[in-house]
Amino acid sequence: MTKQASDTSYKTDALIAEDIDAYLDQHQNKSLLRFITCGSVDDGKSTLIGRLLYDSKMIFEDQLAALESDSKKVGTQGQEIDFALLVDGLAAEREQGITIDVAYRFFATEKRKFIVADTPGHEQYTRNMVTGASTADCAVILVDARKGVLVQTRRHSYLAHLLGIKHLVLAVNKMDLVDYDQQVFDDIVADYAAFAKEIGIEAFTPIPISGFKGDNITAAPSENTQWYEGPALIEHLETIEIANVAAQEKPFRMAVQWVNRPNLDFRGFSGLIGSGTVKPGDTVRIVPSGKTSTVKSIVTFDGELDEAVAGQSVTLTLEDEVDCSRGDVISASDNPPEASDQFEATIVWMDEEALKPGRGYWLKLASQMVTATVQEPKYEINVNSMEHLAAKTLGLNAIGVAEVHTEKPVTFEAYADNRALGGFILIDKITNATVGAGMLHFSLRRAQNVHWQATTITRDDHAGMKNQKPRVLWFTGLSGSGKSTIANAVEQRLNLMNRHTFLLDGDNVRHGLNKDLGFTEADRIENIRRVGEVAKLMTDAGLIVLTAFISPFRAERDMVRAMIDDCEFIEIFVDTPLDVAEQRDVKGLYKKARSGELKNFTGIDSPYEAPEAPEIRVNTVEMTVEEAADHIIQHILPLK
Ligand code: ADP
Repeated sequence: MTKQASDTSYKTDALIAEDIDAYLDQHQNKSLLRFITCGSVDDGKSTLIGRLLYDSKMIFEDQLAALESDSKKVGTQGQEIDFALLVDGLAAEREQGITIDVAYRFFATEKRKFIVADTPGHEQYTRNMVTGASTADCAVILVDARKGVLVQTRRHSYLAHLLGIKHLVLAVNKMDLVDYDQQVFDDIVADYAAFAKEIGIEAFTPIPISGFKGDNITAAPSENTQWYEGPALIEHLETIEIANVAAQEKPFRMAVQWVNRPNLDFRGFSGLIGSGTVKPGDTVRIVPSGKTSTVKSIVTFDGELDEAVAGQSVTLTLEDEVDCSRGDVISASDNPPEASDQFEATIVWMDEEALKPGRGYWLKLASQMVTATVQEPKYEINVNSMEHLAAKTLGLNAIGVAEVHTEKPVTFEAYADNRALGGFILIDKITNATVGAGMLHFSLRRAQNVHWQATTITRDDHAGMKNQKPRVLWFTGLSGSGKSTIANAVEQRLNLMNRHTFLLDGDNVRHGLNKDLGFTEADRIENIRRVGEVAKLMTDAGLIVLTAFISPFRAERDMVRAMIDDCEFIEIFVDTPLDVAEQRDVKGLYKKARSGELKNFTGIDSPYEAPEAPEIRVNTVEMTVEEAADHIIQHILPLK
């Protein structure tokens, strides 16, 4: 251990012994720096992390948590343990936990608390690195002095830069193995500088270290690198400006997480301040409604505040009874963020199942949650060479740029300006798994410039003229299950009842509106989206629409359901077992699919996801066409 580190521990020990309250207070008021280490075990990552924990006054996770929750009971300090054992332990843990997202480790020095996100270095763990990096203020990029800048060094740097990490440290490790040769260090720095400039990294801090021997970790220069004039790694980490501090300079924004209303006299809006500062008396604007009010008080667990800043979680009360709910953003009144429903974004795909362009996913941005679709990527980025490649989708760990469309406008800022309002995740609607993370670049102006044309004659007027309630009867089922046949019988009955109907049939639509689409998953999704939009327009015209499309994916049927007024959408599952449909083989398609002549055929080599809770289910083995049609009519009565 270096001299400075042992002095530090001595002082801390003395303080703990003499005045535990003072010690805890000191801890409470320390700033917290989050950083990420990038590199593989071979670069000496575990050794470096072990060294940081060992040379700083190490504090174990539970103790830090206890300190943070202001427990005065903690009297012990981090145990002294053997350095080699510690490193072995970290490496073993890392190996076992390699599929776990990210290992977070805590330590503290006299000046600061640290959380280091330790992520695996290989390309197949890109998503883990993204998770760890998304909240980091700094990235320590490890390079083995014997190997220099490698492909993975570039990948890690690129990702860190992409995720908006402002401070990069190039830790040239294992200097002991190159005899602390300045030339080796200088060459690596020059090499890295050239690359960094290429991808837009403006500055980085190079430090020659040995994680194993402890050179330039806590104090610099070490005896072995007298030629080095910069700071030691921990010294540098102690001085980096924390993103929250930088964010205080920006306009005020707080996404409302929940509305607090314990009684009629109190109504508070709680959330994390993403940027800026706020004081009682400030005029604020609620986005998207645009309503303004004045901040009455800032309430926290420890009482009211005169001022709150970025990074703090607070509850605001306002002078006026304005509408404001979860997902809204309270912002500086003279500088509110925009709202839009079409964006360009960089997306990191995190799921085994590739992105399905056009499919509806949940998009979560701050506290806003909306349905979103991602278009076919403009390009994918090769994370090793930074080349742009053509891509139709994004697979696990792929990074690409694509347009994102949301069902409702979301309040946002460019990720580069505000991570809290520019970063989002995509969630699969069925499995609830996080499948992607994204960074918004900018709004595609179209959404703001194309306004909804308010018309004088409304959909109710149209429906009123027909004396009927518009509906969409959405038939879904395998090919040959009987969708068209039954829909046709239902339409005949409605016609006899003087109802104005329209039957949209899969085969027919594919001859016209959708003749540009094939049968890949992406095309099937787009096929259904367009049919959904047409059905919606027809309900606006007051019609009862019947659709007969296999519509094999639950997510797309739900997307259409979401487009149409809830009580107007009736999902009818034509439940015919595959063997029965295949026996009927009205169009001879099953035969072709079985012989391999026809690819992507539902039920054979493309899945059919049966509805879980359809409004109506008809089993064509048990019911005749006539019975099925009568059953459906019974269900949708009355028609007005
Ligand atoms: P889809 O539109 O689902 O592809 P079709 O309606 O074109 O299916 O074909 C279904 C075939 O099954 C028709 O030839 C129909 O006469 C026959 N069929 C036999 N029994 C039934 C039933 N109970 N309900 C619907 N169709 C049936």
